[in-house]
Order: sequence, then structure tokens, then C-alpha cells
Amino acid sequence: MIYLDNAATTAAAPEVVEAMLPYFTENYGNPSTIYSLGSEAKKAVNEARRSVAGLIGARQEEIYFTAGGSEADNWAIKACAEAYADKGKHIITTKIEHHAVLHTCQYLEKKGFELTYLDVDADGLVDPEALRQAIRPDTILISVMFANNEIGVIEPIEQIGAIAKEHGILFHTDAVQAFGQIPINVDEMHIDMLSASAHKLNGPKGIGMLYIRTGVKIKSFIHGGAQERSRRAGTENVPGIVGFGAAADRAARIMEEKIQKETELRDYLIGRIEKEIPYSRLNGHRTKRLPGNVNFSFEFIEGESMLIMLDMKGICASSGSACTSGSLDPSHVLLAIGLKHETAHGSLRMTLSEQNTKEEMDTVAEELKKIVQKLRDMSPLYEDFVRKQQA
Ligand SMILES: *Cc1c(COP(=O)(O)O)cnc(C)c1O
Repeated sequence: MIYLDNAATTAAAPEVVEAMLPYFTENYGNPSTIYSLGSEAKKAVNEARRSVAGLIGARQEEIYFTAGGSEADNWAIKACAEAYADKGKHIITTKIEHHAVLHTCQYLEKKGFELTYLDVDADGLVDPEALRQAIRPDTILISVMFANNEIGVIEPIEQIGAIAKEHGILFHTDAVQAFGQIPINVDEMHIDMLSASAHKLNGPKGIGMLYIRTGVKIKSFIHGGAQERSRRAGTENVPGIVGFGAAADRAARIMEEKIQKETELRDYLIGRIEKEIPYSRLNGHRTKRLPGNVNFSFEFIEGESMLIMLDMKGICASSGSACTSGSLDPSHVLLAIGLKHETAHGSLRMTLSEQNTKEEMDTVAEELKKIVQKLRDMSPLYEDFVRKQQA
């Protein structure tokens, strides 16, 4: 099998699983109890908190564990809207956010908030000047993702953060795709809230976090006990948190090497596809992109058909419409960068890890070339196109 869907999820690293295991069995204590079994668990949770904080230059007490990236996004946006509603009801975000952000914003619109969804350019980049123009006296929150999960584009977060700070507006970023993959510093980038999720960096599923800068007043999201400084109730997912910490430690240790290896593989695969498969188009900025992200549109064919044929060759990838599978709508991200519906439907996302090899990239390029040709040979659209070309 060749796994090229690391933006969807990753395998938990062996050292992560090993770190977690004792916390299911012998170290099962509830961190809120006072006997040593409980305080051992509490200590482990706080060590993990320190590891996670360290990856973004935050302080330990600014990290709040959640049940994943979606919860962190929901919390940041809804609780902020509620806390600052008397100051204003305007929120700025972008057209290319993950659904955890977009659908939360749509929910708030129904509750009387006003949303501005910023456009992106053909490469997927937000224009900081357009953001500045969109700011109003009643703007209470700016939420712009750090890096996009489909096309891998890395947004100008530092510039956006500076503009938010200049205007005294809170800045949240969904960094689920960036956290542990590329360097982040919440102070240098003026980030007030940041969402991350362990399963995108070789940690376990169902555990994530929201970074909340000291001094930011937002409401608690889950009401109940006093866990997470009374801001997120519920007995801690101790094994998950320990796994998240181990994944953060590992990410910090291998980041530099991982970036270098993935970037090389990425650019090699992009180069082969561009050279060898006609009527293909790279989606997303060529260099301001996540090290492991390759996203192409192939004219005249369907992404879903490509996925099925790649699967038969043991290759796991994703299409532009994977998140909306079951619906016929093409990806909102690909439409936002200006692709036609047909072109967006013919998209393929391949997201690499440091475990992939150049040989695998060769296999993928070879198989993809055959698959695209085969599908085009069956495509009436392609037949039409060829006939017109010959006429
Ligand atoms: C995966 C992902 C999420 C959701 O995270 P979960 O932990 O799966 O809830 C949110 N935003 C982005 C950009 C993602 O890639």
C-alpha cells in the first residue's frame, strides 16, 4: 500500500502508542483526585501540555485540550461570538476554511451575526489588504486558517495577525494542517487562538487543543467540572493527551528533516505529473504550500474514478470532493481559486509523509499516467475535445 492521504489522518507513531499504553491500564487514575495514582495522571497531562505549548511558543497554561480540531474551531468561534456580542456582531473569515469553521460561521449567521467571507487569489492566498478593508468598527473576530487542507497553501498569518492586533481584534487560526508540520510562533504571528488536532501529526484521533492567549476572555464551551481551568469540563482523555504530547515531542524533533524530505518528494512528484500528464494543473501556490501537499486537476475526468482506480493499485489518495462525498458539489476551495465545476471535479489530492519514498512517487506517477489515459479514452468530453482539435 502507498498511503498518500496524510491530510485526512496519519498513523499513530509507535513511540506515541507506547507512551499512551500505560495510561489505559496501570496509570488509570483520574487527574482530579488527590491520591498519587491521580496525581501521576495529572503530571502526565501537564507534561503533555508543556510539549504541545512548546511547539508554538505558547505557555503551558494557555493550552486547553479538546476532543479534536473541530471542537477547538467551534469553541473559538462560538464562544468568542458570545463573549463579544455586545461589542459587535461582525466576523471575518475566508471562503476556503475547513467546514468546522465555515459551518460554525453559517450557524452564527442564523443567530444574527454578520460574516464576511474573504476571497482568495488563484493560488489560494488571502490578500491582507482586502482583510484590512473588510474590518468594521463592530468586527470582533478574524478567523483565517494557517494552511489549507485541500490545496496546502500557507496563508500570510504573520501579516494577518499584525493587522488584527493593530485594530484590537481577536485573531483565531485553524492550524490543524500546520501544527507540527511547519514552524509556528503565536507571539511573532500575533495569534490569539489556535486550533490543532493530534491525529494530523501521528498522534491519536479524538484529541486536539485550543490555544487561548492569556487575557482573552472567551466563554467555556463544555460546562461541568473544573477541568482545563474550568474552561472545558469533562474528565481528561489522559491516554489521548499523553499521545498528543508524545506526537508533539516527535514533531519537534523531526520537523526540519521531515520538511526537507517531503518538500523534495512533493516537488519531484509535481514535476513528473506536469511533465508527463497533459491537461493537468497544479492547484495551490507552488512554494507557499505545505511540504507534503500535491493537488492536481486533470481535465475531462472525474476525481472519484481516479480514486477507485488508484485504490485498486493500493494507492490511497483523496479527491477535491472527498469532504463532501455523497454530494455532487465540487470542493468550495477549488471553486474559490476559480476552477470551473468540471475541472474541480477532476481533482486529486495526494498528501505525503516523511515515510514515503522516491520509488513510491515513481510508482504513483506511472500508475496515474495510465489511469488518466484510460479514463480519458472512455470520456466523451475528451473525445469531443480531440475531435475539435483535429478539425
Ligand atoms: C482535520 C481538520 C480539522 C478537523 O479536525 P478533527 O480533529 O478531525 O476534528 C479542522 N481543520 C482542518 C484544517 C483540518 O484539516
